[in-house]
Amino acid sequence: MRARVKRRVWTGASALMLAASATAEIPTPPPRPDDMPSPVVETPLPPPRPDELQPPSSEASPAPAFPPSRPQDLPPPQAGSPPAEPPIAASPPLNERPEDPAACDALLAGGTVAATRIAPISDQNGCGVSAPVSLEAVILADKRRVDIEPHPVLRCDLAAEASRWIAQDVIPAIEDGKSRVARISGVGGYECRARNREPGGHLSEHARGDAMDVTTIVFADGHVFTLASRSNDLTAAKSLRDSACARFSTVLGPGADAAHESHVHVDLEPRRNGGKICQWDLR
Ligand SMILES: [Zn+2]
Repeated sequence: MRARVKRRVWTGASALMLAASATAEIPTPPPRPDDMPSPVVETPLPPPRPDELQPPSSEASPAPAFPPSRPQDLPPPQAGSPPAEPPIAASPPLNERPEDPAACDALLAGGTVAATRIAPISDQNGCGVSAPVSLEAVILADKRRVDIEPHPVLRCDLAAEASRWIAQDVIPAIEDGKSRVARISGVGGYECRARNREPGGHLSEHARGDAMDVTTIVFADGHVFTLASRSNDLTAAKSLRDSACARFSTVLGPGADAAHESHVHVDLEPRRNGGKICQWDLR
């Protein structure tokens, strides 16, 4: 009897332990295989992919965005320190045609102008004229003298072209037989300054003696012809503009900009392919 009971008790306890051990061993195997493969697969592959994808995307979008924003951000600090900047910006070589002393000899010996050769000019910021003349008057074919006032300082080839324009085109176009032209007034020539006197702007052709401004033409009877007027006789005004644009590479008058509403500017600045600027509204 006792032996049977002991057997039953032992048998029951062992059965419980077997059952418990069996249920405890089943869940452990699954977690191990799940942990093992996951770190191996995730570690090598994912990292290289995001590294390769980010560079091209980051270079493509920020690259065009940053360069434009940087130059726009930089000018303000430069503009904030104007005292360190020269009044005229260092400009590229505007006038590539060298001055020819022979042009001065021909001008002064030709009998078509009253002019005086003056000393070479060499100012700051690249301003200067190596062979300048002071143009005092234009001598017409009939030997009449048309004074130029004030006397502009010009390089010789421009002085020659300007005197031909005045004698051959301007005066024949505006003299109507009633009164003759006495003088050209409000004339400008050499001046060391930037275009339109804008601080920091490029050097004006005036700074090389290669530009002339004309404001009015005064007749012997006192009446005045204002070149920039929009109420001039249209035929005469058109003749002045067209002849100027044929002779000079730059003609700026009314309509060109605010700086040229009061006078007409002409110069011989060379341009690519012989290009010209002809801006002079007649009406
Ligand atoms: Zn001018």
